[in-house]
Amino acid sequence: MATPLPPSFTVPATNTETRRDPLLHGELPPLLEGGLTVKNVWKNLDWKHVLGLGLTPLIAFYGLLTTEMQTKTLIWSIIYYFATGLGITAGYHRLWAHRAYSAGPAMSFVLALLGAGAVEGSIKWWSRGHRAHHRWTDTEKDPYSAHRGLFFSHVGWMLVKRPGWKIGHADVDDLNKSKLVVWQHNNYTALLILMGVVFPTAVAGLGWGDWRGGYFFAAILRLVFVHHATFCVNSLAHWLGEGPFDDRHSPRDHFITAFVTLGEGYHNFHH
Ligand SMILES: [Zn+2]
Ligand SMILES: [Zn+2]
Ligand SMILES: [Zn+2]
Repeated sequence: MATPLPPSFTVPATNTETRRDPLLHGELPPLLEGGLTVKNVWKNLDWKHVLGLGLTPLIAFYGLLTTEMQTKTLIWSIIYYFATGLGITAGYHRLWAHRAYSAGPAMSFVLALLGAGAVEGSIKWWSRGHRAHHRWTDTEKDPYSAHRGLFFSHVGWMLVKRPGWKIGHADVDDLNKSKLVVWQHNNYTALLILMGVVFPTAVAGLGWGDWRGGYFFAAILRLVFVHHATFCVNSLAHWLGEGPFDDRHSPRDHFITAFVTLGEGYHNFHH
């Protein structure tokens, strides 16, 4: 007698569209209506993201030039870098976007807070984009399609606003049923400020009196590193290395990517 399939295998992910073959390079429609002219890009800039991603490296650089780096603050910054990076890779990515494992309420809560500290959007927003990225890899419906170039897949995709219909459908009903995910989404701005800036600054400030270093290094510089390390999963992991499991799509495997992205290097296999 055949073993019955678990329910998750018998229910289709969604009953709308099915996964599609990737488009070839150059087959993607233009990113913006009317083409990529300076005027058009300017008109469609997503200022929230442009300022957030543009100002943080400048603030961090100013901090590096003007603030003495204390050993305790350096160690705390590195610890908080790994903690918030894991909030994204172990929490947002594996736990929520892929449901690769399940976690107890305390562990889930900590991952939701640490993920917010990485300042990459709410669990719900992040997972919706990531599920579309897996389902529509390398097509125009992939929110960070690698076929639009390394810069686009790394950070460019966040800098321009695109009409919602251009991103493929992805089902997040399971996440909408999670009280924790909905709570984190509804309170995301407050959690971002608390976990992204206030908490890392306060640990250094209350712990050993280094408020300034806590702000510039544990909060802002650490954030810049977490951002660009995790963004490499979308850019570097689709560009550097080999695709032994699937060579029709852009995801690649490479040890450098694994090193930079806290273990997300086997991206060809992952897709
Ligand atoms: Zn993934
Ligand atoms: Zn990918
Ligand atoms: Zn594939």
